[in-house]
Amino acid sequence: MKSNLFIEFCPYCGYKLVRKMLEGRERLYCSRCGKIYYENPTPVVAVIARNDESKILLIKRKIEPCKGEWALPSGFMELDESPIEAALRELAEETGLKGKSKKLIGVYSNNSEIHGYLVSIIYEAEIVGGELCAGDDAEEAEFFLENQMPPLAFQSHREALRKVLKKMEEIKNEKSKFF
Ligand SMILES: [Zn+2]
Repeated sequence: MKSNLFIEFCPYCGYKLVRKMLEGRERLYCSRCGKIYYENPTPVVAVIARNDESKILLIKRKIEPCKGEWALPSGFMELDESPIEAALRELAEETGLKGKSKKLIGVYSNNSEIHGYLVSIIYEAEIVGGELCAGDDAEEAEFFLENQMPPLAFQSHREALRKVLKKMEEIKNEKSKFF
């Protein structure tokens, strides 16, 4: 079993943890204080945002994993944030743009080499202000036409984007019936 993080010592009392079959699963257990250290996936958020020309906003990653590759603006939730708050904060930090929630695109699980098991919560956002300017974990921030997009680093981002592009295509086809 791959652990989410390398946790060796009990976070409650500092004693060395052992793996033990408990509640039907192998879990990290502290034989001194009797507590179980539950391993759970970590939530991450990402945003799909388009400009007036329907170009998709991407960032080039400044940090590992996948440093130098393109991805949706994304990051980890802070303790006191809701998923959408985290998503809009990441959008602002990495691209300088202010967003408004449009809808939830999907929730995906993945396993990152560096961060372990993750749950990616991906939203579509409308851009309502700001100036495009890469910041924080992003080396570049840029809008791309669908057919000119670089490959995306993460499977969950690819899946969510495919879903949004498919929907856009359907809307376009629907409109073309009337004109
Ligand atoms: Zn303990």
